[in-house]
Amino acid sequence: MKIKELTAYLETLAPLSYQEDYDNSGLIIGSPEAEINSALISLDCTEAVVAEAIRKNCDIIISHHPIIFKGIKKLNGKTYVERVVIKAIQHNIAIYAIHTNLDHVLKGVNSKICDKLGVKDYNILAPGGSLLRKLVTFCPNSHADTVRDALFIAGAGDIGKYSDCSFNVAGTGTFKPGDGTNAFVGETGRRHSEEETRIEVMFSAPLEGQLIFALHEVHPYEEVAYDVYQLNNSHPQVGAGMIGCLDEALDERDFLQLLKDKLNCKVVRYTALRGKKIKRVAVCGGTGGFLLPQAISAGADVFVTADYKYHEFFDADEKIVIADVGHYESEQFTVELLHETITEKFPNFALRLTELNTNPINYLI
Ligand SMILES: [Zn+2]
Repeated sequence: MKIKELTAYLETLAPLSYQEDYDNSGLIIGSPEAEINSALISLDCTEAVVAEAIRKNCDIIISHHPIIFKGIKKLNGKTYVERVVIKAIQHNIAIYAIHTNLDHVLKGVNSKICDKLGVKDYNILAPGGSLLRKLVTFCPNSHADTVRDALFIAGAGDIGKYSDCSFNVAGTGTFKPGDGTNAFVGETGRRHSEEETRIEVMFSAPLEGQLIFALHEVHPYEEVAYDVYQLNNSHPQVGAGMIGCLDEALDERDFLQLLKDKLNCKVVRYTALRGKKIKRVAVCGGTGGFLLPQAISAGADVFVTADYKYHEFFDADEKIVIADVGHYESEQFTVELLHETITEKFPNFALRLTELNTNPINYLI
């Protein structure tokens, strides 16, 4: 298949617009039109991973972390980033990153951690803002069903576990067809009044293009009247971190041991125990300290994340237990997640999982 078929699918699940500003998810090296026969999935895209892709005849590397975060001014191989880029291009290997956009969706990096830990009924810990829109359109009553159907099929009208949500109100539209028009109703040069339905639907921002396209496909008017509004509502299904509950509350030490076992951690760094059972668990794969206030206010007993610094540990302040499991350890199952996700859609596409441990951190035990 072409690269663009694979990336289009991944981006319907984790749209690029869901990524953080500092991020660089998407197709970093390669042409969307290039044919691919086999992909290598990895958490990081290192020189060793590129060598593995060459050995395994993979045309594309799909990594969680982007190899390039910021502008490169020279390509002379002085840094590992430059060497990865040079080597990939020399061997015609594409590189695709699916990073914070995959962190921010309901079925993403954090739900995978929850699954591994047995955390159930999870929700997004910090739902994202500015990601919901409302589309309002007006059409003759005769076409209201058709227009609504098309908008629902294109992805509008989902609120939580409800689909096909819309609000409809009857009214009168007016218009005067000008010279050269081919009006659906009414006569050229005369103002016409038509009984119309005003249809309102909510949608996720990345769907806007396909929604407007679908609207134009089925709306009977030559000029389609519609408004798109940005909403201030937060998006309950898109955002950072996750919070859920264990089936049964565990003693704090038993929970820490569970972390160590399930996430294959050599070390778990944690703050003072509170003598309280662990039931509510907040998680954030990778660097998650910025979510501590949300984890505390959501009533989490523990916050499982990585990359904590010395002074930041004090912020637990006996309100919560912070458990730092390590960045690689927290995100290692992202490779498995990507494998499952891609296989579901393209069962016959050759996918390889990296056999390398790309964790740059070692532990002397
Ligand atoms: Zn990460």
